Amino acid sequence: MGIRPRTRTFGRRALAALALALTPMLAGASARSDNFVVEAPSAEAARQVARYAEHYRTVIARQWLGQELPDWPTPCSIRVTLTGGEAGGVTSFGFAGGTVADQEIRLEGRLDRILASALPHEITHTIFASYFGGPLPRWADEGASLLSEDRRERLRHERFAADLLARTGGWPLPELFSIEEYPRDLMGFYGQGYSVSRFLVEHGGRQRFLAFLKDGMERGWDEATRTHYRFANARELDRAWRSWHSVASHSLDPAPSPGDAIAARTDTGASSDRGSVVFRGQSPADRASR
Ligand SMILES: [Zn+2]
Repeated sequence: MGIRPRTRTFGRRALAALALALTPMLAGASARSDNFVVEAPSAEAARQVARYAEHYRTVIARQWLGQELPDWPTPCSIRVTLTGGEAGGVTSFGFAGGTVADQEIRLEGRLDRILASALPHEITHTIFASYFGGPLPRWADEGASLLSEDRRERLRHERFAADLLARTGGWPLPELFSIEEYPRDLMGFYGQGYSVSRFLVEHGGRQRFLAFLKDGMERGWDEATRTHYRFANARELDRAWRSWHSVASHSLDPAPSPGDAIAARTDTGASSDRGSVVFRGQSPADRASR
């Protein structure tokens, strides 16, 4: 992988990203926990986001890594903008020498939706970044982070995947695996990334999925597929995913996600479309160290 200049990539909705970037932080409150410093419009919101961020950091790391992460040397900053709408999030990372040099999360939306979907999603990105010490393939980073969100968001992305397959057939997996920048069809990309991640996790568990990603980035996807999933190559894996999808896509995985517990506690029943964004910064050092 060659060195490339720092790139800014906007996910899901460029306009929402712009709005988020330009929204000045109103004078608000901040809350500090072991691993996060949260700024939010009210002390109560800051306190809740910090508490749930720690909770998710613990349960999602246990779920994916089998153990908790040690405390970060520098707390991760979280900036919260409360609106009446659906939740969106942005996490930016800088990597240096195979570790996370800086990370910042921005969240926007209604507090209950932030707690149930955007926050567990962004926290999953930080756990993967800590574990890998560099960027992951986009499809897997987004797809696996969606697995932490509440049932409503998971169902929505299931539909995006089904729509994409009906419209275009989706990306062949060997192609999906090598996508480095968010493609134009973001909903389709998130949907397929979610569906493929769910398929792999249901078939081999989370730790095998992470080992597959590591090997895929280092030794190529055909070899990683053979090693971890016993298909001849990524094209065979593509065939298996498609036949699974045609049958299984309408049933959700039985295990509840971290976001579900919060959603059950906070869901007000309101529903609207979500304008979510993802911005990932990568420095030349990331690429060089990969
Ligand atoms: Zn994301």
